[in-house]
Amino acid sequence: MELHKLLIGGKWVDGSRVRDNINPSDVTEVVGRFTEGGAGEIDAAVAAAGEAAPAWAASGPQQRFDVLDFIGSEILARKQELGLLLAREEGKTLPEAVGEVGRAGQIFKFYAGEALRLRGERIPSTRPGVMVEVTREPLGVVGMITPWNFPIAIPAWKIAPALAFGNTVVLKPAELTPACAWALADIIHRSDLPPGVFNMVNGAGSEAGAALVQHRDVAGISFTGSVETGRGIAAACIGRMAKFQLEMGGKNPLIVLDDADLDTAVACAVNGAFFSTGQRCTASSRLIVTEGIHDRFVNAVSEKIASLVVGDAVASDTQIGPAVDGRQLEKNLAYMDIGRKEGAELVRGGERVTCEKDGFYMSPALFVNTRNDMRINREEIFGPIATVLKAADLEEAMALANDTPFGLSAGICTTSLSAAEHFKANARAGMVMVNLPTAGVDYHVPFGGTKASSYGSREQGSHAAEFYTTVKTAYQLA
Ligand code: NAD
Repeated sequence: MELHKLLIGGKWVDGSRVRDNINPSDVTEVVGRFTEGGAGEIDAAVAAAGEAAPAWAASGPQQRFDVLDFIGSEILARKQELGLLLAREEGKTLPEAVGEVGRAGQIFKFYAGEALRLRGERIPSTRPGVMVEVTREPLGVVGMITPWNFPIAIPAWKIAPALAFGNTVVLKPAELTPACAWALADIIHRSDLPPGVFNMVNGAGSEAGAALVQHRDVAGISFTGSVETGRGIAAACIGRMAKFQLEMGGKNPLIVLDDADLDTAVACAVNGAFFSTGQRCTASSRLIVTEGIHDRFVNAVSEKIASLVVGDAVASDTQIGPAVDGRQLEKNLAYMDIGRKEGAELVRGGERVTCEKDGFYMSPALFVNTRNDMRINREEIFGPIATVLKAADLEEAMALANDTPFGLSAGICTTSLSAAEHFKANARAGMVMVNLPTAGVDYHVPFGGTKASSYGSREQGSHAAEFYTTVKTAYQLA
């Protein structure tokens, strides 16, 4: 089987270890073999990115547009093939995986346009005869550390703005999903991007990741992953005064009010809580339901999840794929025990499922009669497990929704305009949804949260310039 290497300075190079990438839908299938690097390879990649930085910072918008447009076009043209690869390595169903690849392609296209739209300001000074200019400059070498759950879209939404705004890049992708990262690196490598502008080093977080974060020549770190890892990265970056942005976990509430359209509410809850096997930072893991609709809602969600087909990510009838690996599956099952012990009532699901192929399958689970201080309501599980919390009215529902250490996404299902407006104004989350699932966002607008979910400036849309550029104010005597 072909060994996929690291991309450093425009060349494919060996690392120090090899990792087999296993299909979570069928543990007998090796999706690919990947070289992993450590501190030495990170050092070489940062050196290559540093060497390439001045010329890329001076490149014009047309050159950047052409490169990003090429990358986006190839991703879009190959979205079925790349979607199949993503489904095989991560376990997302094929339509979800193809959708994610499509999004990655659109992101590159969007930032191709952003490269042309970079603007500065020329402002009269308060001092007569002086002119002031405010411009944006690239940071230099930017390090990116990404998780496994969106293995092509998240690297895309970091790499594309970084390149558009003139930075050079070292990407350290998640250990569990090297294939999508490699496929993306291969496309970037075949574009007209000068060697060294983009580099990719697969490897362990504690080695390659830590080396990247601590490297004194890396001007900024963009991280997506768990809160625990993010906290360590923040401390390391502050220690050497590097810029950083963190996108982390969620425990996202979906409020369902008595006046909600039941079908809409059930569709939002089932999509938000269980699709992508609940492995989304924006998953609706807490369903907060007012008393008048509670029983009808719980029965309808329970019936719906009983009909969901759990199985091989690439099978045409599958609606819920496997957990990404054995560790995540064990974690999900452990939270099932925690929920039962805490006194939550299981409506259905939460069991291992045996399929034709040996994979990490479990049935979607719904707990009711839960309290917001239970661990299953406070900690991110990252599996197909949702809880229901009963609320007397909108006020109590809002208080429960906001009573969480996280603040990424929040939703409400209601037919009341005033309830929707009140929710949008008072939900303490970075993204709020009305009659839509908490998961599922556009690629041309900001993405991010509050509290422990996010730190630093927003990703995506034109707001990404906040992180990937630094502002310079120039004064000149006219
Ligand atoms: P993780 O924190 O375990 O790993 C994320 C990345 O950090 C990986 O590449 C890993 O190798 C690296 N890493 C680990 N230890 C490191 C260290 N000491 N120094 C530097 N890098 C290190 O997270 P995960 O399990 O891959 O992903 C799941 C998490 O990601 C969930 O918490 C989920 O909510 C979060 N997530 C957040 C968003 C968002 O935008 N808010 C999006 C997707 C996923």
